[in-house]
Amino acid sequence: MFLHHEAETILGIPLSSGMTEDSQSWAWTKNGESQSRALTQWSSKNILPTNHYLKNRKIAVKEDCVFCGERETSGHALWRCRAAAEVWKESGINLPNGLSPHGDFIDLVWNLLEAPIVFDWELFETTAWCVWKNRNAMKHEGRSKQTKSIAVEVGRFVEEFRQNNMSNLKPQNQPPQARPLWCPPKSGWYKINVDEATFKDPHCYGIGVVIRNDSGQIMGAMTKKLHLPLGALEVEAKVAEEGIILARELGLGEVVVEGDSMTVMPALSSVNQPPSSIQKVVESSIHRLRCLRIGKQSM
Ligand SMILES: [Zn+2]
Repeated sequence: MFLHHEAETILGIPLSSGMTEDSQSWAWTKNGESQSRALTQWSSKNILPTNHYLKNRKIAVKEDCVFCGERETSGHALWRCRAAAEVWKESGINLPNGLSPHGDFIDLVWNLLEAPIVFDWELFETTAWCVWKNRNAMKHEGRSKQTKSIAVEVGRFVEEFRQNNMSNLKPQNQPPQARPLWCPPKSGWYKINVDEATFKDPHCYGIGVVIRNDSGQIMGAMTKKLHLPLGALEVEAKVAEEGIILARELGLGEVVVEGDSMTVMPALSSVNQPPSSIQKVVESSIHRLRCLRIGKQSM
């Protein structure tokens, strides 16, 4: 049913786990990479310091875009503004149409994530960073680069990043962890265990799902490798959603979801409001769960 490496990954999913320490490792280059990571983290958490964001925080700035005068949201600054759109085009990235006109940049990221395409996230992140850098130069110093020279700069940073990371694409050696005892769900129910793995390549995550019945028999399992520019929380939300989708596809009626995330699991139970960066994914998961019968989420 599974390939050898998939079976290994599935068997490596903790059956139940307590709090684990987050670990992240970024790859850095002298020029662009550290900043482009920070930008993606900010924008994926909806805290990019755009004029609109600052005004909402009661900071005395005008919301206007420095290039066109429209309201400067993250979606506008990095994607919809003409000054950004021309750079995306020059970089050779075709962004999807049909997204909300006032959407945030994170909406675009989710949209790309759902699209059935192989996507060049390094080029995407670096382009977004160079667009943002150029916007700030215009705002604060009154100077802006030509579209073509921004695209050349993007190409140079991406090339440099790739050269520095050629040898960094192997999964990290992680110390073996004690496997806690798995508690079965109550009679007639199913338990979805979800887990994610990080790799040295900061754009790469592994996710795994196992669904067992009350006797511990595996009813379904899957693993996926995702190439995303997202933070740990966003991946945690995504892996929970994947587990719920699998349970629905298998036609399982009564399920509980179990995972490590101290943010996502309470949000799925509607105990806590999820942070805005994962709100859409959590809402869609809750909607899917309503079509199943959910039990109390355990953590
Ligand atoms: Zn604009």
